[in-house]
Amino acid sequence: MGEAQVSLRHLYRVFTKPEHQDSKLAQIEQHLSDNILDFLSQHVVTKKTSLEEIEQDFSDSKVPESPEFVSSHAESLLDKLVAHSVNTYSPTFIGHMTSALPYFHLPLSKLMVGLNQNLVKIETSKAFTPLERQVLGMMHNLVYDNDESFYQRYLHSARHALGAFCSGGTIANITALWVARNKALGAQKGFAGVAKEGLASAYRHYGINNLGVMCSKRGHYSLSKAVDALGIGRQQLLALPCPTQTLQPEDALKAGKAYQEEGNRLLAIVGVGGTTETGHIDPLDELADVASELGCWFHVDAAWGGATLFSKKHRHKLKGIERADSVTIDAHKQMYVPMGAGMALFKDPENANVVRHHAQYILREGSKDLGATTLEGSRNGMAMMVYSSLHIFGRRGYELLIDQSIEKAKTFADMINRHPDFELITAPTLSLLTYRVCPAAIQARLQVAAEQEVNTLNQTLDRLIVNVQKLQREAGKSFVSRTRLESPGYPDRSVTVFRVVLANPLTTHHDLAAILAEQHMIASGTEDWRDLEDGKYSLTA
Ligand SMILES: *Cc1c(COP(=O)(O)O)cnc(C)c1O
Repeated sequence: MGEAQVSLRHLYRVFTKPEHQDSKLAQIEQHLSDNILDFLSQHVVTKKTSLEEIEQDFSDSKVPESPEFVSSHAESLLDKLVAHSVNTYSPTFIGHMTSALPYFHLPLSKLMVGLNQNLVKIETSKAFTPLERQVLGMMHNLVYDNDESFYQRYLHSARHALGAFCSGGTIANITALWVARNKALGAQKGFAGVAKEGLASAYRHYGINNLGVMCSKRGHYSLSKAVDALGIGRQQLLALPCPTQTLQPEDALKAGKAYQEEGNRLLAIVGVGGTTETGHIDPLDELADVASELGCWFHVDAAWGGATLFSKKHRHKLKGIERADSVTIDAHKQMYVPMGAGMALFKDPENANVVRHHAQYILREGSKDLGATTLEGSRNGMAMMVYSSLHIFGRRGYELLIDQSIEKAKTFADMINRHPDFELITAPTLSLLTYRVCPAAIQARLQVAAEQEVNTLNQTLDRLIVNVQKLQREAGKSFVSRTRLESPGYPDRSVTVFRVVLANPLTTHHDLAAILAEQHMIASGTEDWRDLEDGKYSLTA
């Protein structure tokens, strides 16, 4: 391995000088700049290397003693790391919310890293702070649509925050519920507030057994982390069953009342604006009514679906989001910003003050330091990427991207519906859908068979789906994910399904047809398929 000198002179060079033009690092850079798709297709080879084998390359726990030449290090990165990465840019990688990025993020990220601003305080970020506040304002406007004077008043106010920029939806959800918790258990005569005294004192003071947060079973697992981190406890996350994929307002009201009657207090209802598994949207307007009837906070987790607000055609699906006390939106999902860009938005710009924190050397009283109301401390200038995307695409650009994703999901659903051996499990509300492969004769049989046979058939199908999904992933041409769900067709048991997220604008109808054809081919080669077709599991056969 190319060992470099251990001298300060050499290390200064590493800080200040670019690599010479034909060094490996410079070549990588050039290749990436010329054509990222070409770079990825040449370097990210989907070899059948097991994770255990890859771990061998990352098994030394000692810090290397001597410096290495940047160039030889770059060579080893290509070999050990890049070659075994996942090509999230591939148009046939349609299993997750992580997809291709617009090219301009490459040079912009170089600018961001190069400037190395820290948004925690003005002294290390200057213009980045007003920029981040403006981004939060634009997103706030997209959700809440207040008048111009509102934004003039609050956008740059040192004593208010329209939101908190953070690394993603998880932190945004925690931030929103943190604000809700501190507000619900705020200071009163004889009590300094939960932020100062802690939960035990707060429960004693307010005379409550527990605080609870309600969502449907499709609520994102970050909510479970949130109630844990906030000291509320995972058992107090009331995740209601939802065979329809959405939280039913009547159920929410009933469960909320029952919970409060036991001496507990419901802290918040979380409506999901596009669930991670199926893309369904809870009835937000009605849930806002329930929250106000129960007297609790209303949070909307629109980490995935929030960008739908850019579309005039589809934004009505999120009706009621403007009544939420707080909203989570991830820019690194449907806004095509690199990972590490989430936002919690607050309807009332006063509310963030319940988590405001001051320190002497930093975050001084009256300063506009963003770190005073964010959970995270040091943060990079990622808001610039959102700012640039908002300008480069504009609302109408995002609208086109959102509309075409949803359109494509509908087309894919049609293909599935038309194919005799596929069964659509959840139709797309947004650009997500779930389905499974199932021989036509078995689909017919499932309609009439008795419970025991239905169960046996479904168990076989579950196994088949798992198998097909794995084999398809291993074949390396395309990737679809899988999950388990209850659905209107199968309300009493969950079934294993393929899950597709149509995030990449470059995915074509032809790609989708090829993915179905591949799944059919893989499925029909399995033993389970032959057994199903031979009627092995039919009790009457
Ligand atoms: C992705 C997602 C999250 C979590 O966001 P991260 O950015 O992964 O932390 C939360 N809620 C929903 C609905 C999501 O889709």
